[in-house]
Amino acid sequence: MSAEEGPTKLFVGGLHGNEGLYTAPILERLAQEEIYLGEAIIVPCLVEYSRYIGVLAEEYYQSKEGMNLLLLIQEYKPSFYFELHAYEKPSYSRLTDPERVKKIGVPHFIDLDEGILIGSIAPILRRKFTEHDFCMTIEVPKWKCTNEKLKEKVLEVLRIGLTKADREEVMHEFRMRYPPQIKMAEQLFHQYYRNRLKPF
Ligand SMILES: [Zn+2]
Repeated sequence: MSAEEGPTKLFVGGLHGNEGLYTAPILERLAQEEIYLGEAIIVPCLVEYSRYIGVLAEEYYQSKEGMNLLLLIQEYKPSFYFELHAYEKPSYSRLTDPERVKKIGVPHFIDLDEGILIGSIAPILRRKFTEHDFCMTIEVPKWKCTNEKLKEKVLEVLRIGLTKADREEVMHEFRMRYPPQIKMAEQLFHQYYRNRLKPF
């Protein structure tokens, strides 16, 4: 997709394991959207059925899929980056655990709505972007992914990225739509990155 001018936006799903089965239908639908701004590169599923390596690990970026991801970022230099993952029900408590930062060194995810979780991207990967770029991870609940209403809710989040011109507009829209959740997510981001980066 490409409009006359505007920022480059990269949407990537299915980064490991079989989560692409769940992210692909959502991102394929996003690719059909008629209203967007800038150039959008949409990768519904980076890898099918790979060995699961968590994206927080250096090892991931040495795997074939991890290297492909780095190449995409290098080539397109997106100023908006959305990473779409899918998680199993038992992982919910681990992903949203307020102690996560103490346990594994990264902040927990915030439940935006119906188990759709948002958070920052892996710190290793964040370094590949500039401070002006907008980078967000979205985790969708696998067991609800066949539900049309859930899919639509995820698309509503992704459309914010697709249709806005800059990071301020994106944050403004997020704050309007999900006030307490974004307030919390921003607080966690500030605690983690101090004043080095603006959320997200
Ligand atoms: Zn994942």
